[in-house]
Amino acid sequence: MAEITELRCVIGGCRFAPDEVEYTCPEHGEAGTLDVLYDYAALSASVDRDALSASQLSNIWRYRALLPVDSGSRVPPAAVGWTPLYEAPRIADQFALPRVWVKDDGANPTGSLKDRASALVLAQALQAEYKIVSAASTGNAAAALAGLGAALPEIDVLIFVPASAPAAKIAQLLVYGALVLLVEGSYDDAFELCMEICQDQGWYIRNTGVNPFTTEGKKTVALEIAEQLDWQVPDVVTVSVGDGSIISGIHKGFQDLAELGWIDRVPRLIGVQAEGSAALADAFAAGLAPEAMARQPANTIADSIAAELPRDRAKALRAVRQTGGAFLTVSDDEILAAIPRLAQLSGVFAEPAAAASFAGLGRALRIGLVDKDETVCLVSTGNGLKDIDGARKSVTGALSVPPEIAAVKTALNEFGVL
Ligand SMILES: *Cc1c(COP(=O)(O)O)cnc(C)c1O
Ligand SMILES: [Zn+2]
Repeated sequence: MAEITELRCVIGGCRFAPDEVEYTCPEHGEAGTLDVLYDYAALSASVDRDALSASQLSNIWRYRALLPVDSGSRVPPAAVGWTPLYEAPRIADQFALPRVWVKDDGANPTGSLKDRASALVLAQALQAEYKIVSAASTGNAAAALAGLGAALPEIDVLIFVPASAPAAKIAQLLVYGALVLLVEGSYDDAFELCMEICQDQGWYIRNTGVNPFTTEGKKTVALEIAEQLDWQVPDVVTVSVGDGSIISGIHKGFQDLAELGWIDRVPRLIGVQAEGSAALADAFAAGLAPEAMARQPANTIADSIAAELPRDRAKALRAVRQTGGAFLTVSDDEILAAIPRLAQLSGVFAEPAAAASFAGLGRALRIGLVDKDETVCLVSTGNGLKDIDGARKSVTGALSVPPEIAAVKTALNEFGVL
């Protein structure tokens, strides 16, 4: 395991011992999310990347040396992480780029990248002997907590989701047996209710940004991208952004590797938001500090990236600014069109929020944020089966036939294969 040396507030640089605070900086409040920091000199003396690559574990626990989880301690049994990184030559051709990869995090046990954060938080909850772990979520973080928590008899999972979440996501929660509250309001409303009751009752909070271990879990996607490319990282990584926690985790993962000297640079991070939920893109364009951001309306078909006041705004702005990246926006129409295009060019079926990263790559090339000689990894954060209604809006083309061979032949004729 990696021994935590300190927790450091992103807003004010306030420093805390690992057991001094649990969530955010007492001085800077909810915006003051915490970085989990290690003694990198000691770490680089005790682990090397080749030894780590020899691990037989095909899940995030192969990186336990870089995570704050004791080697002897229990973790949820689900096989989270070590998701496929596909080279996508047809996407590269389409955009005239030298190489493009798709990191398919929809292949995680509950179908999204959120499993990475929930695994870390549940490991922490087991260690601290919490009985109830709770999250507010647009759906995927909740499904991840419910699914990974189901195998742990000593932990009950309590979920707050907007009643408007896609049916598949709500079904997951109920099937996994979580206690589910469907909030008749927005994600941000659900978030505030969850925070209040958990703080009253002393229950453990998995909420994005608030719990610093969420970033540590999400950083494993960057560790994997680096290792799967034999530590030769791409020039650019594009990822969709709602609360800004995934992009912050990706940044932290690459930063940790750069601190250890395992990679020679940190890729530029391009955060893709929906036009209707663009708080971070707006703040980036206006040069705002995270403390100056206010809650603004969020409306998009990509429910997983709808956030009125992004919870990890400070880390997300830092991730983009420090790596020389950018935030940009795409329309709901572009997001819908990206679902079948990504699937047909790479074989990866993404939910709307995940396909946004592909739509964003197209936009980034059009506005000159990515050069023609650069390599790109796009992160597909969630499985297309999460939102079938969204997917169906993006496609047409099936032909209905009566059960007669003559009709089949006519139809195949229309397809041009007969
Ligand atoms: C949560 C989520 C995102 C956005 O991540 P943030 O940390 O909120 O920025 C994107 N895509 C999918 C599928 C998600 O579940
Ligand atoms: Zn602070």
